[in-house]
Order: sequence, then structure tokens, then C-alpha cells
Amino acid sequence: MKNKGLLIVYTGASGVGKGTIMKELLRKNPNLRLSVSATTRAPREGEVDGREYYFVTHEQFDKMIDEDGFLEHAEYVGNKYGTPKEAVFRMLDEGLDVILEIEVKGFLQIKKACPECVTIFIAPPSFEELQLRLRGRGTEDEEVIAERLKTAEQELQSKELFDYVVINDDVDRAADEVLSIIAQNKA
Ligand code: 5GP
Repeated sequence: MKNKGLLIVYTGASGVGKGTIMKELLRKNPNLRLSVSATTRAPREGEVDGREYYFVTHEQFDKMIDEDGFLEHAEYVGNKYGTPKEAVFRMLDEGLDVILEIEVKGFLQIKKACPECVTIFIAPPSFEELQLRLRGRGTEDEEVIAERLKTAEQELQSKELFDYVVINDDVDRAADEVLSIIAQNKA
């Protein structure tokens, strides 16, 4: 895959604050675009179809797999998530840098297909802090939180596989670190 823009994989456990950092990244770097994934998960309050995700049925998702429409896709805590291929290629071709906010199984697929892409893992200051944040968010019930924490614990063990690990101890600081990683890899 030879791109004009940079492809960035951005991974981190549920509740780590990836979304908040992402808002800063997009605000501060006008050349950066977030790839909008497709998911079978139900929208959370305030989420808009086509902005946070394309919310699709399992049938629509499977059809996209059959049509080879995904760059990667994976199942995460009972739902499917995938990166639509075409939009990513188009943006890279336009010279934009594209960031994929995806979980670890998707990261492994991209790393294989695109060894030159930049991979960043966002880690919590501690696992206890992550628990507090995920519960404090109040968007999931206890059963889902427990499953997400179990997945998060496994995901944290994969962080060594990434090019960079950024600790989210402070949103502005972490966002600046990610921006400087991107700048470094553009040079
Ligand atoms: P959430 O349900 O909290 O929005 O996302 C759950 C997990 O799925 C997060 O770790 C998020 O980064 C990941 N995710 C979102 N979109 C994709 C995607 O297109 N592919 C993969 N593999 N993971 C995704």
C-alpha cells in the first residue's frame, strides 16, 4: 500500500479517553481525518449515524464483508466493527492523514496489510483509573462494563506490539504527544 497521506492506527481500552483526545487531535491538525467505522452496536445517546459510526444491521455488515468493503473488521464484546475501505483510500490519495480508531484485532490486521503505518496505543495511568472512568461514564450497564474491563485487561497486554504507547494522564499533554508522533513520521 503506497499512500500520499499517513495511515495511523489508534487503539486503547474502552473508557481510556480516546474520544476526548481524538477531538483535540482533529481540532489541532487540519490535515487529519478520522475514518468513520461501521458497527452493529446500537447508537449511544447523542451519537449520530454517519458521524460517530455507520450504524448497520448484522445483515448489512455481513454484506459489506462479502463485497470486500472492509480494510479490517472484528468482533468486540458481542458487536461487529469494521473500517470501510474506500473512504480511507480516497482520503489517503488526497494526501490527508487518516486515523483509524480500532481495537487490537483490527490493529493486527492493518499491521499485516500495511507495515509502514504508524501504530499508537493509548494507555490509562492505571487499571484502577480505567475502571473508575468506565463506570463514571454511565453509558453501559454493569454486565457490559465487566466484559469491557476484561477485554481492556487483555488489550493492555498487547501494548508492546505498537510503535508508540501514550499514557492518558492529561488530555492536552497526551494529544500533543500524539500530534508530535504524527509530525515526526511525516518528516
Ligand atoms: P465503542 O463501542 O466503545 O464505540 O467501541 C468499542 C471498540 O471498538 C473500541 O475499542 C473501538 O476503538 C473499536 N472500534 C471502533 N471502530 C472499529 C473498527 O472499525 N474496527 C475495529 N476493529 N475496531 C473498532
